[in-house]
Amino acid sequence: MRSYGLYIGGQWHETPSRYEVRNPATQEPIAECAAATEADIDRAVRAAAQAFPDWAARSYEERGEFLRAIANALKERFDELALLECQETGRPIKEIQAHDIPATISLFEYFAGIGPATMGETIPVPGEYLTYTRREPLGVVAAITPWNFPLWLAALKIAPALAAGNTVVIKPAPTTPLTTLELARITEAVGLPPGVYNVLTDPTPATVGSALCAHPSVNKIAFTGSTATGAKIMQLAAPNITRVSLELGGKAPFIVFADCDFDRTLAHALLANFFAQGQMCTAGARLLIERPIYQKFLDAFVERASKLKIGDPSDPMTEFGTLHSQAQLDKVKHYVKLAHEQGARLVLGGKQPTGSEFARGFFFEPTVFSGVQPTMTLACEEVFGPVVGVMTFEGEDEAVKIANSVEYGLAAGIFTQDISKALRMAHRVKAGRTWVNCYNMHPAAVPYGGFKKSGFGREAGLQCLLDLYTEIKSVQIDISPDFFDWFM
Ligand code: NAD
Repeated sequence: MRSYGLYIGGQWHETPSRYEVRNPATQEPIAECAAATEADIDRAVRAAAQAFPDWAARSYEERGEFLRAIANALKERFDELALLECQETGRPIKEIQAHDIPATISLFEYFAGIGPATMGETIPVPGEYLTYTRREPLGVVAAITPWNFPLWLAALKIAPALAAGNTVVIKPAPTTPLTTLELARITEAVGLPPGVYNVLTDPTPATVGSALCAHPSVNKIAFTGSTATGAKIMQLAAPNITRVSLELGGKAPFIVFADCDFDRTLAHALLANFFAQGQMCTAGARLLIERPIYQKFLDAFVERASKLKIGDPSDPMTEFGTLHSQAQLDKVKHYVKLAHEQGARLVLGGKQPTGSEFARGFFFEPTVFSGVQPTMTLACEEVFGPVVGVMTFEGEDEAVKIANSVEYGLAAGIFTQDISKALRMAHRVKAGRTWVNCYNMHPAAVPYGGFKKSGFGREAGLQCLLDLYTEIKSVQIDISPDFFDWFM
């Protein structure tokens, strides 16, 4: 079994209290982690604050070299990290190998190279002045991540924060700290200066996270998680006017027009809903099918979903793993019960699979309800599981109306072969990331984030580095030979 301390100031610290991290597919312990105390939080923030001036003063090129070295180390440990991520999340190893680890590497490589793009600009102003702006790092970034994509979501914060010259204290979700801790081992191996990257772990969801957010020496909070926690984080940040960016929940519409490429759309619909067992903020859980192909598409979707291979997440043939926890299982069951009560029609799943191989995990079958109305709970609230609500619509206006009817606005999928319709829809749907004829693509260079209660701030891309991890300072220099006294 693996064992970890807290990673603070370049050192591993043991704590008197420890806790076990378990594999959700078997409920067996896979690692033992340290439980941080209030004093540890303060020590980690102080270590990050102490490391900041030297790290910020280094050139972009030098910081980029460290990020590149991290990317290379991730490549070397690809298989081991993929297995560990699979064991702590319960997600199929196949998808972690295809998405999470490559996307993490790509983020470190991308941000290693874009430092010079963060230079400021000169601004002509009336009079004889040289006026220019510079981008300066913020200081200590507190990063807080959820359990569904632990390493990739951590990298979305760590890579741009470090590239811009900030230092980081990260608090992963209590149940999935392992790859984030392994990243600390990687930073150690590549010689990242002590205090630039720190990791705090804790078995309770809110204790360390909230103390970290309220710490007066934290300059920025980068949070991914639920909308409810996001609201609490804004309150914790308020007294110190700490900068905040929030990547929160979603309830994405997956809009299928009758003129779509049927087979490709079907493949994307499966990916949009059953990747990570639907435990994705971008899950296309509102499946909107245009009336002329409604029954045909629904039947084909159900048929394909019924054939997904459920099982041991570490088996490379597995396509659908386990839910992450008992709490997730309870939540999914709750929404399934509500959907039944509110009159939706169950057309697939709706229960836990039977069989000895499923006995110890939190397995739940891919589930599809048809006849869902836009006002039903299943059409409005985030389930964060493999439960799809299928609706029908007629034409663009109705699709837009349903798509925009929820309080979230993170992602949307639009499937049509009519380019004009696709563009009109992409502009009318209120979602921070809109995919047309594709889904769940996350290139490191493309900004990603939500409208409405899905949060604010954009991760990935140059804009993220500029807006989330630097402040603009303007400098104005009088170069006139004459003194112009504009006050007296
Ligand atoms: P969560 O909000 O319960 O927890 C997220 C993180 O916040 C965890 O590390 C948790 O320990 C910590 N936390 C909890 N309470 C806190 C508090 N009061 N102060 C500080 N930290 C606190 O979310 P979750 O259940 O881990 O993740 C699922 C949610 O995350 C879903 O709503 C999902 O949509 C969202 N999510 C969003 C994105 C995105 O990019 N927008 C990506 C993945 C997940």
